[in-house]
Amino acid sequence: MWFTPPAPSRPQRNRPATRPTGVSRLGTVSRQTTWCDKLSQIPRRGHRADGGDGCVRGRFVPRHGNVPAPPPRGSGRCPVPPSPLGKAKAADVRWSKALIPTLKEAPAGAVAPSHQLLLKAGMIRQLGSGAYTYLPLGWRVLNKIVAIVRKGMDDAGAQEMLMPALQPVELWKETGRYQTFGDLLMQLKVGGDQTMALGPTHEEVVTDLARDLIKSYRQLPMTLYQIQTKFRDEPRPRFGVLRTREFLMKDAYSFDANLDQLNQSYDAMYEAYQRIFDECGIPYVVVEAESGPIGGDSSHEFMVPASIGEDVILQCPASGYAANVERAAVGALKLPTQTERVARAAVAPPFEKVATPGKRTIQEVSDFLGVTPDQTAKLMVFLADGAPVGVLIRGDHEANEAKIRRTFAAETVTPADAATIQSATGAPMGFLGPVDLKIPLAVDQSVAAMEKVVVGGNAVDLHLTGVVPGRDFPLDRVADLRNAVAGDPCPLSGQPMIETRGIEVGHVFKLGTKYSKAMGATFLDETGTAQEIIMGCYGIGINRILAAAVEALHDAHGIVWPLAIAPYEVILIPLKVSNPDLMAVVETLERELTAAGIDVLTDDRDHQPGFKFKDADLIGIPLRVVIGERGLKEGKLELKWRHEKEADSIPVEGAGAAIAARIAQAKHARAQVLSERRAARAAARNA
Ligand code: ATP
Ligand code: MG
Repeated sequence: MWFTPPAPSRPQRNRPATRPTGVSRLGTVSRQTTWCDKLSQIPRRGHRADGGDGCVRGRFVPRHGNVPAPPPRGSGRCPVPPSPLGKAKAADVRWSKALIPTLKEAPAGAVAPSHQLLLKAGMIRQLGSGAYTYLPLGWRVLNKIVAIVRKGMDDAGAQEMLMPALQPVELWKETGRYQTFGDLLMQLKVGGDQTMALGPTHEEVVTDLARDLIKSYRQLPMTLYQIQTKFRDEPRPRFGVLRTREFLMKDAYSFDANLDQLNQSYDAMYEAYQRIFDECGIPYVVVEAESGPIGGDSSHEFMVPASIGEDVILQCPASGYAANVERAAVGALKLPTQTERVARAAVAPPFEKVATPGKRTIQEVSDFLGVTPDQTAKLMVFLADGAPVGVLIRGDHEANEAKIRRTFAAETVTPADAATIQSATGAPMGFLGPVDLKIPLAVDQSVAAMEKVVVGGNAVDLHLTGVVPGRDFPLDRVADLRNAVAGDPCPLSGQPMIETRGIEVGHVFKLGTKYSKAMGATFLDETGTAQEIIMGCYGIGINRILAAAVEALHDAHGIVWPLAIAPYEVILIPLKVSNPDLMAVVETLERELTAAGIDVLTDDRDHQPGFKFKDADLIGIPLRVVIGERGLKEGKLELKWRHEKEADSIPVEGAGAAIAARIAQAKHARAQVLSERRAARAAARNA
């Protein structure tokens, strides 16, 4: 069952067998009717809107005027099996019979709030390092996310399929990723001596499919997707289900005949992602991402802002620019003109050689010479497509390999080994500098902006002070070569950028022809000429959304689920379960709310009210309904939204309809906001 999520939970049968028959205020529901009968009377989720025949959770639901051959008598089963990930009917569950093992304390070792809360709320349970069980509540959330993601993909015109997680390693060798993925790729022997990989992603498998099945431009454009378990031997699985070794991903792949088509496919996925994350009700920011060495001229990540996020984001409040630190550009600095440089160089004293015995690091050299790290510069040696190159960065900055790769127009850039460094500069690491350097040199603009700088002397235990850029080393290749930091100028507005952290929940990526070239996936264009298929890939971490939602939406008492992905929308809390009058009200509410398509959890445990309130807050169900003896005497029930402080009361008479109306209003208000956002995006696109 690891390869695809199983069916959503079955209709709940854990209520007492003696549950009385009742007449709903929202629609007549007899205990004798079948699920299908009930559902055909009440407009609900899960039904086809076109009035055609529908299947609801494996039961057959005939619709007016379109009655197909009936299913075998007495079976009551739908002839078409339900989608394993299809939308569940509204559920009503009694806590006393459910597996919701809430904890008082999070187990030691859980650091991230989402990890602690998901464990405490009885939603997940760890099996091993990077491997988690999703208990019923957690699984319900995952299924709701899956349903939103699936709808987003389907609406964008992508076609769903399922590829195997078990992949021949030969495919990985064809693209060279057998090496580059390295230890991340989990491998196992099957059938004796064949080596297979457990798919960490599916570009190879889908390209193999495309080279067999896509032959003509007439088949393009096409976007395929799947929702599949991925395996990555993450060196540091952590933060609960934020980074695991086995996780659910929605991965989509676009196939296009030309760049125009690719741009359209990419834009469609980008918009679909915005709709999906909007729909899930989580905060997110879209950031420019590094697109890697080959093909991609564009890549964006969808980040949920969170202090424990592993990605650093640079944002400009003035222009709206946002980029992953791996990508973020530093706005152009004002550099001295050539005339100013010459004038300065003429009056500046020559640089001095200073013995710095055993002082290798920037901090050691700065302390020894009585300067600050930002008055120094470090020379780093890289191999650009195998050839050594020097890169000069300010002492307090970090080099950015992607920027270096672009500056040297190389496909790959890797740090040079000690022997290469020694032969290229004549010195070991710790004493390298740009003066009289014999290999190509690129200088970061922050260094080029300095009047003088401390650098290594290319000899053991030697540094140079008072070195003047442009006079003592060349400035032929000045570029933005370092990671941006807070306060750096935005590349669009020039205003200072701010630094935040985020959790990557999705990634869209123009691949170009990287995979089709490596694997020979071609199509015949209009002239009958073979062309490589242009591809894009688009991933969403389903489990990550669950954890990121908790990370972003919680308070001191527990999780605050958005309505769209909450495991249940309403929690009913009877304060005295031994009181039959009170429980009769509960049962009516359960029936009416589920008939209205609302997922209901009833806390029917015989516990103190305070205990139940705490648990309700912990698991984060959006709307709490308290049914107490005193309230009933006054003919009232108490309602409270999880995200609000104040409770409010409604009459018992008509309570089911009133609660259903509140939920409907909340959904409507949200839909309104999302439709305004979509309209604003469309207007921006057309502008
Ligand atoms: P990361 O940088 O976090 O390792 P990635 O960039 O390698 O992720 P992608 O290959 O872009 O990940 O995968 C698509 C999506 O799958 C990611 O945006 C993320 O949401 C999710 N994902 C990736 N790795 C993991 C993991 N180990 N556990 C859970 N979700 C993951
Ligand atoms: Mg990614």
